[in-house]
Amino acid sequence: MNIDGKTKLVALLGHPVSHSISPLMHNEAFRLLGLNYRYVCFDVDKDDMKTAVEGIRTLGLAGFNCTYPDKQAMAALADELSPAASLIGAVNTVVNVEGRLIGHNTDGVGYMMSVKQAGFDIIGKEMVLLGAGGAATSIAVQAALDGVSALHIFSRKGRSWNPICALAEKLNKTTACRVTVHDFYDASALSQCVEQSAILTNATTIGMAPDTGCPLPEDIVLPSSLIVSDIIYNPRETPLLCRAKSFGCPTFNGMYMLLYQGAEAFCIWTGYDMPVDAIRQKYFQ
Ligand code: NAP
Repeated sequence: MNIDGKTKLVALLGHPVSHSISPLMHNEAFRLLGLNYRYVCFDVDKDDMKTAVEGIRTLGLAGFNCTYPDKQAMAALADELSPAASLIGAVNTVVNVEGRLIGHNTDGVGYMMSVKQAGFDIIGKEMVLLGAGGAATSIAVQAALDGVSALHIFSRKGRSWNPICALAEKLNKTTACRVTVHDFYDASALSQCVEQSAILTNATTIGMAPDTGCPLPEDIVLPSSLIVSDIIYNPRETPLLCRAKSFGCPTFNGMYMLLYQGAEAFCIWTGYDMPVDAIRQKYFQ
């Protein structure tokens, strides 16, 4: 479909953005469904978000995604937040509804969909979550809302510690999920939580290229029944997944989370389901 006077524009705001697969994924989905939309990337650092969002309002974009480091800044700039975005305090998807910018967060939904797509059911079961940054927070909120029975979050006692403890308190009050926060370096607590859990999820940046680290203590033993997932997708097999495989654990990486957070955003903007099978075959093998 050619660009014409009625073409609707959606965008990705972040810094950097040139590596993003989102334009390929969304433009192909628009093409397959014959929707008159285009998706482009804008390199916008967080200090420029206010003026960028003013520009978006003036130009009337249909919506946009936000990625690192703009997600928290966008939560403060939106006119309204979805319940999940409000709990998370970060926005990765915005839809323009008659001039009002509504902020959503689709990372957690994308992660929970990715678990299902990988063939697992973790509802009513326990989960270990490593990390407490933006992505971990989204996953924690969605896992608790969807019915994971207990969530054991491991965080360094740095910048994320107080916010994640506050979130745990909120989730314990508002959901049936039991949420506990542990020191990232408490190896015996980690071993105990791993024994009780169905899944261990890495949402730290450890192991993301060019880093080659593994977020687990060297001497930990993983039960072969434990599902081990890494939300990192570069490299496709992180040192964590490699190590988990050596214990016989089933594993999956962050590619499906990326696909399904995008599919959820696509539906929010257009009202149509993304043709995920075609997109997966073309870009996510
Ligand atoms: P973030 O907000 O910067 O959070 C990173 C987390 O990792 C923080 O909790 C940080 O702890 C922790 N961390 C980093 N280095 C650590 C270390 N050496 N020891 C212990 N903890 C450490 O980043 P994010 O946006 O959540 O992203 C996290 C990862 O998820 C990235 O690799 C990103 O590419 C990936 N991701 C994937 C998807 C997907 O669709 N698959 C979506 C979003 C993100 P402190 O707070 O103490 O620094």
